[in-house]
Amino acid sequence: MEKETTIALLKGRLAEVETRLAAACRRAGRTRAEVTLVAVTKTVSTEVAALLPEMGLFDLGENRPQELWRKAAALPKTVRWHLIGHLQRNKISTTLPLVHLIHSVDSVRLLQALEQEAAKQERNIDVLLEVNASGEESKHGFASKELPDLAPILKGLKQVRVGGLMTMAALQEAEKCRPTFASLRNLAATIPLARRDQKKQIVPQLSMGMSNDFEIAVEEGATLVRLGTVLFEGLGR
Ligand SMILES: *Cc1c(COP(=O)(O)O)cnc(C)c1O
Repeated sequence: MEKETTIALLKGRLAEVETRLAAACRRAGRTRAEVTLVAVTKTVSTEVAALLPEMGLFDLGENRPQELWRKAAALPKTVRWHLIGHLQRNKISTTLPLVHLIHSVDSVRLLQALEQEAAKQERNIDVLLEVNASGEESKHGFASKELPDLAPILKGLKQVRVGGLMTMAALQEAEKCRPTFASLRNLAATIPLARRDQKKQIVPQLSMGMSNDFEIAVEEGATLVRLGTVLFEGLGR
């Protein structure tokens, strides 16, 4: 596809998504600024991903660390990279300097390995805990009932800042995902979050909502939505 054609297509889709996001925010009495749109570029080429910052989209997500490294090397440093998939411990050291937020911390072992590496690299790292809220066996993440037990561990972290929770709802009709999203919001209120700025009120970050269900997620309090298909369907690699 010609670059100009791709840009026109992306602009149209983005405008449509913005309209839907704005409407969902309005229904929930929230402002659009409370929700960050993360464009999930895993299905498109580096060339297509590189068009996004040109269009004003700087929050980009990848689910595989190596693909994130590859695209991060090619795109401008102004991009804020979000890792939204499983992070193997042997990929932590390369990933840390590249990412703005890791959405997908799914074990205590990973949390501790991140803390260790962050100390070594003398940097702070913002993360979310992935919760397997739908309880499907195929999914990564903490079980909802495990979360309260994590409190002492979270309080002991110094350089890893847990700002909230992430989940993937089961693939089903969007309205049926509502209870999953509501339960994540309620869970987030029970965990001790990192206090980055003592003066500011701490709002838990909630990464929830994908192409299929993002409007419901926004109605239920999502602060980050992760959108792939609705933006990139048909663009291929
Ligand atoms: C691929 C992916 C998305 C985007 O999904 P779409 O349904 O294509 O919008 C969101 N979150 C995670 C964790 C993903 O792997």
